[in-house]
Amino acid sequence: MSDQALPGEFELIRRYFMKGAEASTSDASAHRPTRGVALGQGDDCALLLPEVGTRLAVSVDTSLADVHFPRNAPPEAIGHRALAVNLSDLAAMGARPCWFVLALTLPDDVSEPWLAAFSEGLHDLARAHDIALVGGDVTRGRELSITITVHGELPAEGAILRHGARCGDLLAVTGALGGAHGGLRAWFDGARAPDDQLLNAYLRPQPRIEAGLALRDLATAGLDISDGLLADLGHLCTRSGVGADLDEASIPLAPGLCEALGAEEALGAALGGGDDYELLIALDPRDEATARKRMKALGLELYVIGRVVSKEGIRGVDTKRQGWQHFYAADSGGVL
Ligand code: ADP
Ligand code: MG
Repeated sequence: MSDQALPGEFELIRRYFMKGAEASTSDASAHRPTRGVALGQGDDCALLLPEVGTRLAVSVDTSLADVHFPRNAPPEAIGHRALAVNLSDLAAMGARPCWFVLALTLPDDVSEPWLAAFSEGLHDLARAHDIALVGGDVTRGRELSITITVHGELPAEGAILRHGARCGDLLAVTGALGGAHGGLRAWFDGARAPDDQLLNAYLRPQPRIEAGLALRDLATAGLDISDGLLADLGHLCTRSGVGADLDEASIPLAPGLCEALGAEEALGAALGGGDDYELLIALDPRDEATARKRMKALGLELYVIGRVVSKEGIRGVDTKRQGWQHFYAADSGGVL
């Protein structure tokens, strides 16, 4: 990608990942870590101050080139997405994001413009959620690898957990499904338009932090749908010791998905596609109106897609679609 050597490790960190006091003052987009940060980057550890009485929610995820995203995806989207998938885990618990650390492995062909765009995508999303980058590590390696650990805060009794769904609860999702899969498919078909809705659903997912916070005290159980609706609903059911009756006609399909894939495949993408990063929650039917109202206040919609039942297993849809993405990955030449 570049025949120009990158600057040394420390200079590279200073230029692109140290957005606090030590960063270049010419960088107007600098994200200044403040909230709960006693000491940010520059020493051996960051020193952090969680609010008294809160619990720390901690989660880590690795994104690998050509495994979790196409290596030649826009670098700004790679940065955005790597943080977004981590923030989604905090959203799933109903946690408020606070801090993150970033471990990067960079191959030799990474250029400075690539790094600049990558860090911009990352910092933009960090700023949008008021989350501070407080440390990290940079190494050289054969494959591009991005590991992010996020920290969030929760009240002592407030987390949305995978267990707790009760028979009679409604099952609901926080947004339309299948868009990410449609976008990945579009990427392989050569789509590159910056305003392509499906492509953006895949490349620039929006973690449902606000929805998680708004639904935290109403959800009896929940998680994010990163592995696909059916797979993740399966996790929720197993952990809660319940089953689910879905209403296929109520499953919200991403805008443009049917047109792009046809009705049959669109439904498959929504059920088994993965990477949508919406939340799936169970809630008491008596809380439905409140939940809808709170979502509406955020400009979001809550889609009820079924009900929790005592009989184990998922009914109402073709559960064989669960492995759908894997077939697609094979079809696409094993690139992803
Ligand atoms: P050490 O040798 O103690 O591991 P490093 O030289 O790796 O320290 O890092 C120096 C400082 O820069 C540390 O405070 C570290 O947290 C920070 N840092 C290193 N890499 C990154 C990164 N990718 N993003 C943010 N901060 C980083
Ligand atoms: Mg280090």
